[in-house]
Amino acid sequence: MSACGEVSAPCSAQQPSSCCADTTGRDAERPAAVAWFDSMIEHCLEYARAAHEQGRPIVGIMCEFTPRELIFAAGAVPVCLCGGSAATIPVAEEDLPVLLCPLIKSTYGYHIQKSNPFLEMAALIVAENTCDGKKKMYELMSAERPMYVLELPKRQGDRHALRYWEDEIRRFIKELETRFSTTITNDRLRQAVQLMNRERGLRRQLAALMQADCPPLTGRQLLNLKSSISGIPEDLEHYEAALQALEGTTGPAERANRVRVLMTGVPVVHGTERVVDIIEDSDGLVVCQETCTGVKPLLEDIDPDAPDLVAALAAKYFHLPCSVMMGNDARMDSLRHLARTYRAECVIDLVWQGCLTYDVEATRVKRFAEDELGLPYMRIQTDYSPADSARIVVRVQALFETIRQGAVPHSACLSSKI
Ligand code: SF4
Ligand code: SF4
Repeated sequence: MSACGEVSAPCSAQQPSSCCADTTGRDAERPAAVAWFDSMIEHCLEYARAAHEQGRPIVGIMCEFTPRELIFAAGAVPVCLCGGSAATIPVAEEDLPVLLCPLIKSTYGYHIQKSNPFLEMAALIVAENTCDGKKKMYELMSAERPMYVLELPKRQGDRHALRYWEDEIRRFIKELETRFSTTITNDRLRQAVQLMNRERGLRRQLAALMQADCPPLTGRQLLNLKSSISGIPEDLEHYEAALQALEGTTGPAERANRVRVLMTGVPVVHGTERVVDIIEDSDGLVVCQETCTGVKPLLEDIDPDAPDLVAALAAKYFHLPCSVMMGNDARMDSLRHLARTYRAECVIDLVWQGCLTYDVEATRVKRFAEDELGLPYMRIQTDYSPADSARIVVRVQALFETIRQGAVPHSACLSSKI
């Protein structure tokens, strides 16, 4: 994996500095390595521009089913294009239904306005065949941009579906090789797997800090510790430094008394953190996020020494417990494990308006949370507009009040079924 000439900012993990202003408005001082990610978009832009100038192709992706490892192994840079701005939605609604998911509309709005510099640099966009809205939006976008459709079979746990997916991954490799005149050797793929394993491992360890009674981070601060471009060397150094600074430390004592929330549902992409803020401003603590911007893509690694690395990679990605899959039992298994590990006191399920798969699956998650985990459940359906914030605040506060009145100790919050 070649490093791409970006400038590393000096940053001591142990020494909070003036760069530690908390844009999330909570702790006054954080390790500088945590604050590094406040400028995540700027760092990614600098990295992508340098890569672009050096002739490295930029490949846009919009889903965690796309294996970034393959793009790295082709010498390219994978960039997440998911839109998190309400400002680009009105122009998108000239072509797309108003009731469509805001994540899709926002991304498409950037496309129409040509205002996402990553998208404008992209030599290829991977169109993951996941939810219907995204598929049809990609069709419109493909009229103007180079696109490759990654076909995802939807039957989780089915060996025929897995075989198809593996073939699809091999076709994607061929496409990358042809398009970028390169060869994805086993060695290059292994290096890319090791890079992504390292990043997943570091982010998993950071997420695990939230298991403490009084964690050194809020859920919102943890959510900031991610990047639109994986594998940036400076990001990996700052993940490591943040871990060194935070491991064994605790947050303010009041944090131990907050209601511990397991969030699940749709991705909370950069700029769309409003519901997380509402939960934490209402005396909750988001101890775990079972989402694609949380731990969902981090839970499984790939064995770099697997005899068939492509098959191992295909299997890892096929296990992703997304609601677009039929028979998404893996999500329930994951919720059971995470609720227990993070000692959640309730489950809050975030559904973007127009996201049919997460909306329909919410019924199953509710039954699972209440009947199997013994945890109160709340579904919050919203979009990128703050218009319903006051209503959400009232509902969240009522949920927390109910939990407090129950006076259930954290460790006794789960039913004996798990
Ligand atoms: S929630 Fe599903 S469709 Fe959305 S990014 Fe994650 S895996 Fe992809
Ligand atoms: S949140 Fe739902 S509707 Fe929106 S892109 Fe993801 S899966 Fe599709």
